[in-house]
Amino acid sequence: MSATPQNSAEPRRKVSRHRGEGQWAVGHFTPLNANEQFKKDDDGLNVRTRIETIYSRRGFDSIDPADLRGRMRWWGLYTQRKPGIDGGKTAVLEPEELEDTYFMMRVRIDGGGLTTRQLRVIGEVSQEFARGTADITDRQNIQFHWIRIEDVPEIWNRLEAVGLSTTEACGDTPRVVLGSPVAGIAEDEIIDGTPAIEEIHRRIIGNKAFSNLPRKFKTAVSGSPLLDVAHEINDIAFVGVDHPEHGPGFDLWVGGGLSTNPKIGVRLGAWVPLDEVADVHEGVVSIFRDYGYRRLRNRARLKFLVADWGAEKFRRVLEEEYLGRRLVDGPAPDQPVERWRDHVGVHRQRDGRFYVGFAPRVGRVDGATLTKIADLAEAHGSGRVRTTVEQKMIVLDVEEAQVESLVEGLQALDLTTSPSTFRRGTMACTGIEYCKLAIVETKARGSSLIDELERRLPDFDEPITINLNGCPNACARIQVADIGLKGQLVLDDRGEQVEGFQVHLGGALGLEAGFGRKVRGLKVTSAELPDYIERVLKRFQAEREEGER
Ligand code: SF4
Repeated sequence: MSATPQNSAEPRRKVSRHRGEGQWAVGHFTPLNANEQFKKDDDGLNVRTRIETIYSRRGFDSIDPADLRGRMRWWGLYTQRKPGIDGGKTAVLEPEELEDTYFMMRVRIDGGGLTTRQLRVIGEVSQEFARGTADITDRQNIQFHWIRIEDVPEIWNRLEAVGLSTTEACGDTPRVVLGSPVAGIAEDEIIDGTPAIEEIHRRIIGNKAFSNLPRKFKTAVSGSPLLDVAHEINDIAFVGVDHPEHGPGFDLWVGGGLSTNPKIGVRLGAWVPLDEVADVHEGVVSIFRDYGYRRLRNRARLKFLVADWGAEKFRRVLEEEYLGRRLVDGPAPDQPVERWRDHVGVHRQRDGRFYVGFAPRVGRVDGATLTKIADLAEAHGSGRVRTTVEQKMIVLDVEEAQVESLVEGLQALDLTTSPSTFRRGTMACTGIEYCKLAIVETKARGSSLIDELERRLPDFDEPITINLNGCPNACARIQVADIGLKGQLVLDDRGEQVEGFQVHLGGALGLEAGFGRKVRGLKVTSAELPDYIERVLKRFQAEREEGER
């Protein structure tokens, strides 16, 4: 079916212009806020030509502000925070006072799959153009910092020569498609979603029919029984299930998301075979484009539309207006039997070889390390590497006789395959080092917290997740962590404002997915953090009941 906005512009429900939320499908094409205005003025994808022909030649000061703070995201570029501006100034300074003349650049890695050739190019770009920076994000991407606008075309040349891109890595677009990091190799896999991810990418990414969405649109596809792509908090997710009549396919979820008003996605009760995943994805992204709310940015994610419509109406609109056919009813996925879903450690593949997952600290690696990982993966495997949604990495296709040597090689890079609970379960967002929205530091704080907790609680081996955010946004998924830490300024003992965190406790994905409780008034300074977490965990150990998490 066609999925152009013009074809679906007929009013389909009675919503007056005054009460509308800016949905295209009910006739609200008038830009309703600054973001809608710049998207209407020019498609975000068009900025590439200006970057290549004007901005990279004339320098940072030549960049049109609407491109600089808007459309450049469509190509994975954000200005980074000027060094030395403390978190207390984040809310009071104008964007231009906070921003540096350097960029963060996000490389999308759909499905988390990389060849060692690609990894080497990422390592090279990091070392030549990004002062060695390279962070693995919790959406399987890799992010560089310190990028100069002058270097962007050459970076694109290098990345694209090996099949990588930054297209729609940020912005109001279909973002990277998450995929199981062990797709196609895991012994316990229900179905391999890789062909569906490739087809979604082919149809949707860089396609101007889908490059002006109300806000970002996140997709996840996994056929692993470990439910290893955080499907509950994506706008759309396809989760592997075995249908009693039709066999392996995917259960369809929509409307998950964190940040303001976090929501766990809802099941539509539909089973989707592998070769129809891309059709259904196109239908749902089209619904979001046509009916999604555009009036207020903080109500523009798909989850608000899903909450208003409910699963039944959403499925009916998808079937009747976008697919032109009924979907097959299907079962829910089984609950995962394990709490860790990061694939860390040594595991047998279904072909008899092994995959080896390892844990960088809070997702932080660097270009030189990535190059060494590529060397190790080539020497011990077939040249395939994957990133995970837990800021971890995996080397694939390792013969049994090679496993020990690979494990030792990784360990020599401080990339352990048998991390402590704290190394394994701690994630951190970018934070104040580079992020203009940040209030507190996160990466170094997370790393030192790991060391401190390992020293204080050497025997603690219960799976536990500790997620640090540098501001009230949710880039490190604080609401679904056992201990979620939301960066803000807090008062210390002397009544002075210092960096600290609001604490959320008891969130989870997978088994008993749900949001942590914001413990009213419970705020800790950054300096107190190890003491506080030690107290919580010791008390948990002392008072837990049988089987309690
Ligand atoms: Fe920046 Fe806040 Fe996201 Fe952290 S959570 S990367 S500080 S916007």
